[in-house]
Amino acid sequence: MRTIGIIGGGQLGRMLAMAAARLNFRTIILEPQVDCPAAQVANGQIVSAYDDKSALEQLAAACDVVTYEFENVPVDAAECLARSLSVFPPPRALEVSQDRVTEKQFLNGCGIETARFHAIDSQEQLEQALADFSGKGVLKTRRFGYDGKGQRVFKNEGDDPAGAYLALGGVPLILESFVPFEREISIIAARGTDGTIACFDPAENIHRNGILHTSTVPASVNEATVEAARLAATAVLTALGYIGVIGMEFFVLADGTLIANEIAPRVHNSGHWTEAGCVVSQFEQHIRAITGLSLADGARHSDCIMQNLIGDDINDLPAWLAKPNALVHLYGKTEARPGRKMGHVTWLV
Ligand code: AMP
Repeated sequence: MRTIGIIGGGQLGRMLAMAAARLNFRTIILEPQVDCPAAQVANGQIVSAYDDKSALEQLAAACDVVTYEFENVPVDAAECLARSLSVFPPPRALEVSQDRVTEKQFLNGCGIETARFHAIDSQEQLEQALADFSGKGVLKTRRFGYDGKGQRVFKNEGDDPAGAYLALGGVPLILESFVPFEREISIIAARGTDGTIACFDPAENIHRNGILHTSTVPASVNEATVEAARLAATAVLTALGYIGVIGMEFFVLADGTLIANEIAPRVHNSGHWTEAGCVVSQFEQHIRAITGLSLADGARHSDCIMQNLIGDDINDLPAWLAKPNALVHLYGKTEARPGRKMGHVTWLV
């Protein structure tokens, strides 16, 4: 085992490539954007669309195992690669997580509670579904939503849904019941080729404008809630015959009950704190898992807070560098557009 192919060239791919290098693996990135964040620190890049057949053949010929850093990798591309080499996490994990309805059905099938939901394919169905949820709910696109994009919240009975179906693009939607959560947490877990499972401690997440702002560890939840998150992650990893790192997001109700929101079959923004808070980060854990090495146990040596540097936040870099016990990580992006993740900082508390 020498060379790892990574589909997707963003910051997650970049951090995976850096972790891989420390364990003597080479990395090749498949990504259409030239000089992407991941390719800047990898051994090679195939500049191509993710579903280009000859590029996929080239990747398969050059690598011993292929992984990915985003969940919208075309399932066909992953399955095509899986016919000639190992693709971890398994393509089935992509299939399950790419569609919010399929994802919730899968989670419910694993015995994991989610918000109630209705699949929506017309304005009429939306109005019926809203009536079922007493006029409250969160309307989302079933596919390709990220960072709160493609969503509309109905908070009060009487919020007018007129035109909402078409306003979200006339594409397949899901209406979720509104979850009156007290906080949001996520857990990062991993499963190795030998079936070993290791979980990091849950982080408590705060979002701003639909984008993750901070992850704080430990989360302010009791041990029973931590254990419930571990059990849910374990059930998902086992059901999928998963290999690699997974991120799982939950809403926490006032009594500590967990409601699963979504799963991400990859390293996750809310796990960046592990670089500073654990001896082995989520990135190294993923590389260990997909190359058949033994997993680290996920233990945390320090409490910490991770904050994303979004857009112009990058201008505060001198202050972050001056902060004691802070680890700054930048993504090699030149243009600081609004909402763009430029880097993150994790400080020990
Ligand atoms: P998502 O794209 O599913 O991660 O949703 C983005 C954010 O919207 C979540 O982090 C929550 O803060 C909020 N949200 C999403 N779904 C619901 C829901 N069913 N009930 C209440 N809030 C939600």
